[in-house]
Amino acid sequence: MRVTVLGYQSPYPGPGGATPGYLVETDQLRILLDCGSGVLANLGRHYPIYELDALFLSHYHHDHVADLGVLQYGLMVHQLFGERDPQKPLPIYAPNTPVQNVQSLTYRAATAFQPIDEQASVTLGDLHVRFLRTDHGDGDPCYAMRLECGGKVLVYGADSGPGTPWGAFLEEANLFIGEGTYLDHNLPQKPNGHLSVRQAAEVAESHRCGSLLLTHLYHGYDPAEVRRQAAGYTAGNCQVAEIGLQIHL
Ligand SMILES: [Zn+2]
Ligand SMILES: [Zn+2]
Repeated sequence: MRVTVLGYQSPYPGPGGATPGYLVETDQLRILLDCGSGVLANLGRHYPIYELDALFLSHYHHDHVADLGVLQYGLMVHQLFGERDPQKPLPIYAPNTPVQNVQSLTYRAATAFQPIDEQASVTLGDLHVRFLRTDHGDGDPCYAMRLECGGKVLVYGADSGPGTPWGAFLEEANLFIGEGTYLDHNLPQKPNGHLSVRQAAEVAESHRCGSLLLTHLYHGYDPAEVRRQAAGYTAGNCQVAEIGLQIHL
């Protein structure tokens, strides 16, 4: 697998930035994890959007789905232009609530909704994906994703507060894409469905992850400070997300 960061910022993109989106390539597939603001423009540096095989959405907060509508328009136009099979909608694997969000996922013949939950397991080509509900949000589900391909494991943590029951889902993953929404100085006293960089490092360390990619960062953070606050992770290589960063596993 190869992962490319297309967006990592939250809650909104800084100048020239983008909110979460990750391109995952295998020998057989090109898939997108989340589709935040600015993600499509960055995807275009690597592939045309009509070469995508699937989109996985962790949840429906704006920072993770902002580019969905323009992706649907784009795919529809590429179908009209003959660059994409008009009979083959892009599958969007996503939570089945809230209903009003689900209804927006199927658009003409361009995209089609596929529900996910903790019981689901999705096999696409050489890729196998399972889901874990995280501690996040206001009652609507958010799912972390465990992607397995060729004996390697990538866990995309999505948005995940300290109550997330990681367990075996994360244990010894080759790569954990973990959110570090807060630094020490702005961590709320009461947990609110997100981790700090320090907490994300502790999660990766305690689950013996082979490498850690810190993401879901405010665009104004100093990457050197982010790295310092992740010092609790010693089990492997730690990287701070930036647009265009690629990780091979
Ligand atoms: Zn969220
Ligand atoms: Zn978010």
